[in-house]
Amino acid sequence: MDDALWRVVASDLELAEHVHLQGWGEPLLHPHLAAWAQDARAAGCTVGLTTNGDRLEEAAGWLLRGDVNRVAVSVAGDADNHAALRDGSRLESVLTAAGGLARRAHERRVPLQVLVSYLLTRHNAADLPLVVRQAAEAGVDEFFIVHLDCPTSQIHVEEAAFAEDALEDGVTAHLEHAERVASVVGIAFRNQAQGGEEPLVCALDPLRFAFVGWDGRVGPCVNLLLPVNGSIPRWSASGVEEIEAVSYGRLDGTGLADLLSSEMRTRFVAPWARRLEAERRFRASVLPLSGKGLRELDEADAIRTATLGANRFPDPCRHCPKAHGW
Ligand code: SF4
Repeated sequence: MDDALWRVVASDLELAEHVHLQGWGEPLLHPHLAAWAQDARAAGCTVGLTTNGDRLEEAAGWLLRGDVNRVAVSVAGDADNHAALRDGSRLESVLTAAGGLARRAHERRVPLQVLVSYLLTRHNAADLPLVVRQAAEAGVDEFFIVHLDCPTSQIHVEEAAFAEDALEDGVTAHLEHAERVASVVGIAFRNQAQGGEEPLVCALDPLRFAFVGWDGRVGPCVNLLLPVNGSIPRWSASGVEEIEAVSYGRLDGTGLADLLSSEMRTRFVAPWARRLEAERRFRASVLPLSGKGLRELDEADAIRTATLGANRFPDPCRHCPKAHGW
């Protein structure tokens, strides 16, 4: 993204609560990142980024200025698995840099959280307890799990820690073990690894989030605006499908506020709005009914189920792991 486009985004930052300076690639390589974090902070947003950690030491000076609230450092297994998946990156150096940043933030009373984002695969699940312990010893604030949730090649399907709607054999035991280790060594542990059913709305909640691409296109999520020419390949157990990118429009003359209130966006997010409303109504009706008997509860549930069935995730979300809660 160039600075001219950022200026267009920045002029509407009062719309946002949080700005995550992230796309496809390593954000700390971007020459304007520090200035943009400062802009977002000045506009009243919280600011985050996810990094491979290689440049944390160099960036520490501006990261500790107070403009950034959350830095997530992405790791992918023990030293060997991490190096294999991350092109030779050294896990120990990455965790040391992450822990060092967290420690300096605490010492200076800068409200910056440093988290480890663990990319869970079926082949690195067994490493989890060890890496949780190493992250805690390094001094990182929190540890959380993410999946391979943008399957653009068959390898992603073969490596994912889930298949269809279930975790691979043994993965649950490793997650539980890691959770126990986290509680012993005293690091916050967020296990977001349990999926397997269609949530009310996906974790990238397009009702609340929008993705702005380097080329000025604005869309529901990073998965639907991949930086590729033409359609987006999405692999699943049933093979590959070509998904059309979803864009609400482009920031060239039209501002962010206009694109977010466009007909295109309103139509795209409508099923999720109806799903959430059905759930809200169900809960509202169940509470006063709780003393009145099973028949009323069954009726309320049937209405909710019918509404959810009539408002499935939009077609471009088909086979997206996030549409199954992963
Ligand atoms: S389900 Fe997937 S493709 Fe659809 S909005 Fe969520 S992340 Fe994007």
